[in-house]
Amino acid sequence: MSFLKTEAIVLKSNLIGETDKIVTLLTKRKGKLQAVAKGARRVKSSMLAATYPLSMGNYVLFEGQNYYYIDQWELIHSFVCFEGNLLNLSYATFFTDLVYKVLQNEQECLNIYNLLKYSLLILEKGKIPPEIIMLVYVLKFVSFMGYMPELNKCSSCGNTEKLTYFSFLMGGVVCNKCKDKCSDAFYIKENSLNTFRYLLKNGFNNLERVKISGFITEELDKIISGYIKVHFEKAFETKTFLDKIKNM
Ligand SMILES: [Zn+2]
Repeated sequence: MSFLKTEAIVLKSNLIGETDKIVTLLTKRKGKLQAVAKGARRVKSSMLAATYPLSMGNYVLFEGQNYYYIDQWELIHSFVCFEGNLLNLSYATFFTDLVYKVLQNEQECLNIYNLLKYSLLILEKGKIPPEIIMLVYVLKFVSFMGYMPELNKCSSCGNTEKLTYFSFLMGGVVCNKCKDKCSDAFYIKENSLNTFRYLLKNGFNNLERVKISGFITEELDKIISGYIKVHFEKAFETKTFLDKIKNM
C-alpha cells in the first residue's frame, strides 16, 4: 500500500457516484492530481470540507489503481472570506483555473504551488489591489512554465533600442524595425513597459508601496490575457467572467 502525505489546495471538485466526490488537488509534493473523497456528499461526512474549492490542508492520500483516495485530512486554511466577496472569489477562481488547465498531472511544480498559496494569502490580506496581484501572479506563472516574456531586447533581432511594440507570437517586445515582420505586433506605451519590467523583476516584493495607474493596469491586463491565450492555446472563461465582474 502506497500513501502520499502532502500539503495541497483544492482546485476543483466534482460529483462522482452516489455519495462520493472527486477533487483535483494541487499538491506540494506531486503537483496536480485527482483524488476521490469517499462518502464526501453525506451531510455529516468529515470529508466534506476537504473537497471545497480553495481549501488548503494536509492530506494523506492512498494511491489506488486509477485514482488517489483521500484517507485523512486536516485543514490549514479555507479562504472562506472569499465567499462573501464575489470579486476576490473571481480572482481566486481564475488563479486556480490557470493551474487546473495548464499543468499536466503530476508535473513537478513546487514553485507554482508556493505561488498559488502566497497569491491567495496576499489576496485575502487585501493590502494590494487584486488587479495588481493578478498581474504578478500571471507573470510569475508563465515564467515558471517556461514562457517568461522578453522585455529587454527585441524578440526578433535582439536590438535593445526603440522597443515600442509587443508581440504575443514572438513572446515579448519587438523593435520599430521588426514590427512589420510580426503580424500581431501592437504598440505598447513606455510607462506600461517599464511597469511590466518592474513587476516581472520584483514580483510581490515591496508591491504595497508601488502605485500603478488604472490605464497601465488595464493595458497590462489586456497583454497578459492575450499572452496566456496564445501560449497555452486555451480559453480561460474564468478570466472573461472576472472581467465582467470588474466592470459591474
Ligand atoms: Zn528587432
